[in-house]
Amino acid sequence: MSRIEHIISGKATSGASIQTTPVYNPATGEQQSEVVVGTPADVDSAVASAKAAFQSWSKTPANKRAAVMFRLRELLDQRRDEVAMTISKEHGKTHDDALGEVTRALDVVEYACGISEKLKGDFNRDAAQGIDVCGERQALGVVAGITPFNFPAMVPLWMIPMAIACGNAFILKPSERDPSSANLIHELFQQAGLPDGVLNVVHGGKVAVDALLDHKDIAAISFVGSTPIAEYIYARGCAAGKRVQALGGAKNHMVIMPDADLDQAADALMGAGFGSAGERCMAISVAVPIGEKTADLLVEKLIPRIQAMKVGPYTQAGADMGPVITAEAQNRIVGLINQGESEGAVVKVDGRGIKVDGHENGFWVGGTLLDHVTADMSVYKQEIFGPVLSVLRAKSYQQATDLINAHEYGNGTAIFTRDGDAARDFAATIEVGMVGINVPIPVPVAYHSFGGWKRSIFGAHGIYGPEAIHFYTRLKTVTTRWPTGIRAGAEFNFPSMQ
Ligand code: NAD
Repeated sequence: MSRIEHIISGKATSGASIQTTPVYNPATGEQQSEVVVGTPADVDSAVASAKAAFQSWSKTPANKRAAVMFRLRELLDQRRDEVAMTISKEHGKTHDDALGEVTRALDVVEYACGISEKLKGDFNRDAAQGIDVCGERQALGVVAGITPFNFPAMVPLWMIPMAIACGNAFILKPSERDPSSANLIHELFQQAGLPDGVLNVVHGGKVAVDALLDHKDIAAISFVGSTPIAEYIYARGCAAGKRVQALGGAKNHMVIMPDADLDQAADALMGAGFGSAGERCMAISVAVPIGEKTADLLVEKLIPRIQAMKVGPYTQAGADMGPVITAEAQNRIVGLINQGESEGAVVKVDGRGIKVDGHENGFWVGGTLLDHVTADMSVYKQEIFGPVLSVLRAKSYQQATDLINAHEYGNGTAIFTRDGDAARDFAATIEVGMVGINVPIPVPVAYHSFGGWKRSIFGAHGIYGPEAIHFYTRLKTVTTRWPTGIRAGAEFNFPSMQ
């Protein structure tokens, strides 16, 4: 059984860890490796390593830090197939989907290549007579990232390039479900010339996370995962005096106006609802057609599409969707479908009990369509995080937007329409952080920033892009006067700069 270890000061180690957790191949249901479970002592070692590395890394000129990003970009590009394979083997998503994940990660690395320009400071000569003022952004120190299972390469790479390009040292605590991508990312950074200790990887679960949250030498925490854990991370990290950004779960609605092209809308719902088996924080899990006629036509178009979907392992060419991550996830999703049915939802396509030939023990859930879902049902209120699309029929555009605004989550949303006025109003007023107009998964490009609203985020900053520069640096303002500008005598009044 191969063992996945921490990476501290550039070397693989089990450190003080005695326990391990099994890592499965979700397509076969078999354990394929084990990962060490980090202890507070392992976190201490990683912090000591990062703290030491920070001393010289933070003083390394920004263009030299950028040079690491340029090399990383080339390596990631050359080895994208291997990274995608590593993702799929433990996560289960299809190879093409994993390649998409790598491409989105590369975008962030490319953005970080421009760090010198992004860290350029402000300067005002003669802010007052003989006084100059400059503002610069300095690195925070040691920062940590805690990441979810669903994008084991992309989400760490939303954080690491930005944090270390800004001059910080980084500790990654990846998901214990699919931990290998984290070690591969470290290997690529090492090959790109990143000094040992600037990036460390500590594996494990709650014990390691709590040690990171409480550690006095960690300045900031970036978290991406489910809302209950995000809220916990935010509260505990802030209580320990850290800067925290914690991105949580989602329930993303897509409004389908009566004037929309319903074939386009149905195709969009297929990819956004079932791609990656619905295990995306930007997945569309609720379709909101406006009016009964739109709803009937949409459901009619969705049914054959879902039935025709190819569910299979990542090794199968042409598979549209893979398994879900664990047997527990499979049971939870099936349980929610059962509950939805008992609460009155109509199961139009049933993915429970699906069999995949040759992979009978995999964690499969087939594409599922629930019609006549209402706002009081558990399938509507909760994030299912599986291949289940609910149809909630709204009478009007106003009713649809009221529904979205009332939901506790506000990560992503979309509207499909040809009506510019409706689209413009939707973009301006909907209480959701990322909005698509005829774009079902509006994940912002790397030079914008990613982040939801309401209980989909805790903390003031979104992730990657310009928001990341602010999150991973702190502002210093220097006011300067030279002897020729100093007036004689003591000044007791508050300096008014006049
Ligand atoms: P999760 O919250 O279970 O785990 C995320 C991380 O937190 C993992 O590293 C895990 O080890 C750690 N963790 C789990 N339980 C913990 C506890 N009790 N105390 C401390 N740490 C703990 O999330 P997941 O199941 O890995 O990922 C799926 C979730 O992530 C979904 O809710 C999805 O919407 C969300 N997500 C959100 C975004 C976003 O950008 N908003 C992106 C991707 C995923």
